Formats: sequence, C-alpha cells, structure tokens
Amino acid sequence: MSNQEKKILVIGGGISGMSAALDASETGYSVILIEKRPSLGGRVSRFHQYFPKLCPPMCGLEINYKRIRPNKNLQVLTSTEALKISGEAPDLKVTLKTSPTYVNHKCTACGDCVDVCPSERPDAFNFGMNKTRAIYLPQQMAYPNRFVIDRKHCPEGCDKCVVACNYQAIDLNMPAKEQEIDVSSVILATGWKPYDAKKLTHLGFSKFPNVINNIMMERLASLSGPTQGVVVRPSDKKPPKSVAFIQCAGSRDENHLPYCSSICCLASLKQISYVRAQNPEAEIYLFYIDIRTPGKYEDFAARIQEDPKLKLIKGKVAKITETADGSLVMEAEDILKGNKVHIEVDMAVLATGMEPSIAGQSFVGDTIKLDSSGFIQEDQKAGIFSAGVAKMPLDVSSSVIDASGAALKAIQNLRSD
Ligand SMILES: Cc1cc2nc3c(=O)[nH]c(=O)nc-3n(C[C@H](O)[C@H](O)[C@H](O)COP(=O)(O)OP(=O)(O)OC[C@H]3O[C@@H](n4cnc5c(N)ncnc54)[C@H](O)[C@@H]3O)c2cc1C
Repeated sequence: MSNQEKKILVIGGGISGMSAALDASETGYSVILIEKRPSLGGRVSRFHQYFPKLCPPMCGLEINYKRIRPNKNLQVLTSTEALKISGEAPDLKVTLKTSPTYVNHKCTACGDCVDVCPSERPDAFNFGMNKTRAIYLPQQMAYPNRFVIDRKHCPEGCDKCVVACNYQAIDLNMPAKEQEIDVSSVILATGWKPYDAKKLTHLGFSKFPNVINNIMMERLASLSGPTQGVVVRPSDKKPPKSVAFIQCAGSRDENHLPYCSSICCLASLKQISYVRAQNPEAEIYLFYIDIRTPGKYEDFAARIQEDPKLKLIKGKVAKITETADGSLVMEAEDILKGNKVHIEVDMAVLATGMEPSIAGQSFVGDTIKLDSSGFIQEDQKAGIFSAGVAKMPLDVSSSVIDASGAALKAIQNLRSD
C-alpha cells in the first residue's frame, strides 16, 4: 500500500472532527469521517453566536461544508457510529454501523413530505422545546441537506410521505448497515454532552419550567430555534424582565463534575448579551465562584461586565424555589458582602459544563484509555489519536488547532511504517 492508499478514520463530525478530516484529506490522504447524527456540525450547530466576536457559527460551518463538497479524498458517512476497533496499527479494523434514515441521497429537501406528514415528535435538536413532524430536516443548515424519518412516531401503515415525494427519495424499509473497514490511523473527536442538570435537584431543572440550561438558552436565542430567536420564559412564553445565570452548575463539584469546563463563564457572558440585546431594561444577575475568562477573552468579559444593569454576586446558589406565578427565588450567600440573599427572577439559566460523550460507547472497551472524568488520555496505542473536547474542555478555536495537530499525528503514523 502506498502512503496515500492508507486510510484515516475520524470518529465524530463536530468542529474538531471536521477540521481534522479536512486537514488530513486536503494534504492528499484518504479520510473517512463518520458522524452518528444525521448531519455534521456537532454541538456548535446549536449555538446562536460565538464568543468573543458574537458571530453566527453557521458561517464557519458553511466554510467547512464548502471544503467538504468537492473533496475527493474525503468520504462522509452520517448516521454512522463505530462499534468496535481491533487489530494493531497500521492494520486497524473498525466495525461501523449506519442506522437507516429512511430518506436517500435523491432528497432535495423540498419539504413536500412534511406537508402531508400527520404525526409529530419532540425536537431533540431544540431540547424538546418544540415539535417537528415525524419526517424532518435535522437542522436548518443540515449537511447533508436531507430529511430523515423518526419511525417511532410514524402511524401504523402510513406512507403519505412516500406518495408525496416526487424524487423516490423515501424508503420506509431501508435497513441498517454494518461494515468492517481497514484503516491505519483513527482520530477520536467524539466531543461532549451537557452535564445532566436533572442531577442538580436543588436547582429545580425539569421541575420548574423556567429553569433552563445554557444549551436551551442558545436555542431560544437562535433564529432557527423554537421561538425564532425571541428569548421567552418557557412557562408563559413572555420575554423575561429578569434573568439569573448560575455558574458552575455541577462543575468544580466532587459530587458532579470535579473539573472546570473553562468556557461556561464565557458562554454565560455571551448569553447575557443575548438578553440585553432584546431587553435593554432587563435585570440580569450572574452568580459565580470565580469568573474565568483567560487570555484573549479578558477584553470580551470586561466589555460585557460594563453593563450597569448586570449584578455580579460572588456565591454559589444553594437552592432555587418557585413562586405561584412561576417566578424563581435564588437563595445564595453573597460572599463579598457576607450576607444571605434571596433574589426573585423570571428565569434562571444553569451554566452546566461539558461532559465527555465517549464514556460507555461500545468501541471504547479496553482499546481506548480514558481519564477519571472520561476524557481521552493522550497516550493511546499506536495509530489512535484524539482531538477537541473529547480530550479536554476547550473553546472552538483551541479545538480546531488541536484537530490540526491530531491530523498531523495521524499522517505521521501513516508515513512512519
Ligand atoms: C453553552 C456553551 C456555549 C459555548 N459557546 C462557545 C462559543 O461561543 N465559542 C467557543 O469558542 N466555544 C464555545 N463553546 C465550546 C464548544 O462547544 C466546543 O469547543 C466545541 O463544541 C468542540 O467541538 P468538538 O467537535 O470537539 O465536539 P462536539 O461539538 O461535541 O462534536 C462531537 C461530534 O461527535 C459525534 N460523535 C460522538 N460520538 C460518536 C461516535 N461514536 N460515532 C460518530 N460520531 C460521534 C457527536 O454526535 C458530535 O457531532 C460552548 C460550550 C457550551 C457548553
């Protein structure tokens, strides 16, 4: 096999996986990029804006999609995950499973199928804050731009979408597919999931509707979100006049996530700007232990903190309770003033941290070494590398830099044998 014939597999189609796959394939190597969801983009495709520039992530994602489309060295498999990795580099074998989406490549995303679909499902992309039809586009700027069907929600015997489709793009009997591929290097870019705020019982998430997490806030602020970008409190759909941001919700806590996710303070400061842009009069509170905005982000943090209606309270929220009208009372100790505070707000946003999503996935087994928090360790067996938040909490620009490093290591591994 020539070096160029040896393949690199990238697992995870978020910003880190896409970057690693593009960097390696654009240097002439053959790369397969798999993503378990029906479209690429990972977590950032849910964001309204990026700190510090407050620009939409879709611009950066679209630039990547533009690089992917003509790239003959890069094969993208969505709805596909790795089940098993075996063998030794440079002869690694990976078993892949592609789940059926029931819609094939002929789909033009015209939407005729949606118009006739009789049933609905909670929209997981928007954290269940709205519903889609059983046939749906995974997200507004989906890549590939193709509908998928959630068969669990199809009425028995219904084939209205098949009849409505003019392109023969729907196959309700599409099977799952398993295949074993030979690769020489694997890059793990499996990213993160939000820490499950239900475990923070004292903060009332999923008990009080107006307690949301920071990803729900991104979706509320996004033009493609459940409220077309209007930040409202979930209970009555009214714009909140007061909002509390609760830092370290579960983070830096031995009972939950012992580490700092390093971006949550920046994410909340960014989200304060979303609220402020929509309501110049809103009272905003930020409860924090320390505000961590290192290096290049200091100016951004200082700019947001100039807001005269933003009140910073150094202290952990001990408890959230609900009033009769759905408002919320934050109970905390104000460490700097040395007193207890009870502050009533319309809505609270929990700054939950990033938890690595690789733990528990079937291919990990004894093959992949994880640290005590579930992040991928640096020293793996030959041929296996990692990129982005799968390895440690990182912002987007650091994830992209890290991904380029992983691509280079994967290439070196191909050339060294
Ligand atoms: C509330 C919040 C706001 C943030 N805002 C910003 C911001 O404004 N600016 C900024 O710089 N950073 C921000 N971040 C950080 C940013 O989200 C991360 O840096 C970024 O998501 C890292 O991308 P990733 O590709 O490593 O992981 P992910 O985005 O999680 O992508 C991983 C991908 O891998 C897929 N995957 C997982 N397992 C498998 C498998 N077995 N097979 C196939 N696919 C798999 C997943 O489906 C996913 O698509 C924010 C974080 C939070 C929590």
